[in-house]
Amino acid sequence: MTPITRPDCVRRDDEDPLAGFRREFLLPEGVIYLDGNSLGALPAAAPGRIARTVEHEWGERLIASWNDAGWWDKPRALGAKLAPLVGAAPHEVVVGDGTSANLFKALVAALRLNPERHVVLGEKGNFPTDLYITEGVAEIMGAVERRVDADNRAALAGALAAGDVAVLLLSHVDYRTGALRDMAEITRLAHANGTLVVWDLCHSVGALPIELAGCGVDFAVGCTYKYLNAGPGAPAFVFAAQRHHSAARQPLTGWHGHARPFDFSGEYAPAEGASSFLSGSQPVVAAAALEASLDLWQRVDLRLLREKSVALTELFIEQTRSAGLDLVTPPEPDRRGSQVALRHPEGYPIVQALIARGVVGDFRAPDVLRFGFAPLYLRYADVFDAASALVEVVRSGQWRDPRFAAAKAVT
Ligand SMILES: *Cc1c(COP(=O)(O)O)cnc(C)c1O
Repeated sequence: MTPITRPDCVRRDDEDPLAGFRREFLLPEGVIYLDGNSLGALPAAAPGRIARTVEHEWGERLIASWNDAGWWDKPRALGAKLAPLVGAAPHEVVVGDGTSANLFKALVAALRLNPERHVVLGEKGNFPTDLYITEGVAEIMGAVERRVDADNRAALAGALAAGDVAVLLLSHVDYRTGALRDMAEITRLAHANGTLVVWDLCHSVGALPIELAGCGVDFAVGCTYKYLNAGPGAPAFVFAAQRHHSAARQPLTGWHGHARPFDFSGEYAPAEGASSFLSGSQPVVAAAALEASLDLWQRVDLRLLREKSVALTELFIEQTRSAGLDLVTPPEPDRRGSQVALRHPEGYPIVQALIARGVVGDFRAPDVLRFGFAPLYLRYADVFDAASALVEVVRSGQWRDPRFAAAKAVT
């Protein structure tokens, strides 16, 4: 195979149908940002949208904005804008609260829909909040928590075949390894065993096309500050399949999830659709940033996004091979999300040395170097340069400089 050159990459950028989106983000000069899977970049439209919400809607219009600026309906309006990105109908998604809180609501709702069973099956090595929330739910609901290796199909099938699993919670893309799970097949397998499924989409939404309705998924949750670029602490979303709307009961029954909140009734009555998953007041200013981002996402062809994502991860894997690090991410493109994870016992100082050179990735203990590829604002030439920098840092031993060893609070 002839080696890939930088001019090859520049040519691919010239031909890239998604190239124009890069101009819609504000990116710092001299930085190659491979951490959009942790905190997405700032959409150029977001600061203006936030300023308008604060200065006009809040500052001038005050309380009238609950109606006039659509504040009250924002969780539903944004859910409807997000729905096409996950293959759902508009009324099946609402935006609000955080992923952790939405996980709690979805897991309890699923357990209540399957009352004969008392096991929540999670996955070993899932993102900690998923594990912790599951533990908490199990304790409150008198359920039992089990964990399985989600990438071992025989183990997963065996755990479901036990016949006592009420709900299965899996991440669509593993936050550490980048492994992409087969949503259609696993959901089918779970249903065939009488188990409901909650999918965590944190590392797949905005990274690849998702077909929640097409796969018959029961519930899903996800955050908007990773590939969806809605900013730190932005509200999350929850999907509830239409067929569960009449029977599903989530536990945080606040007034925003009420059918007629302005009756100020003393009795709770759930709203229609996914709206019943809302609880209390939502962060309107943060929602403005999400809206700016979702407006941009309406124009993204997810098939092209996935094609570019695969090409970028392929390029990075190929160009970093000579660094000699172990590839943690599945080598088959259709089995990985939009990230590449590499393993090295000195991963932390290597990532720090890369950051010092303007290539931003991150480190996940104990030994994973993680690089996310956001196709809307990354160029092929950036990925080529980032890969060259990694090879040089490892080969030269630059990372051994003691200034790269000191651990920061957020890695
Ligand atoms: C990022 C992430 C979360 C984040 O949860 P928060 O409540 O937003 O802190 C949860 N689950 C997974 C799998 C994640 O990757």
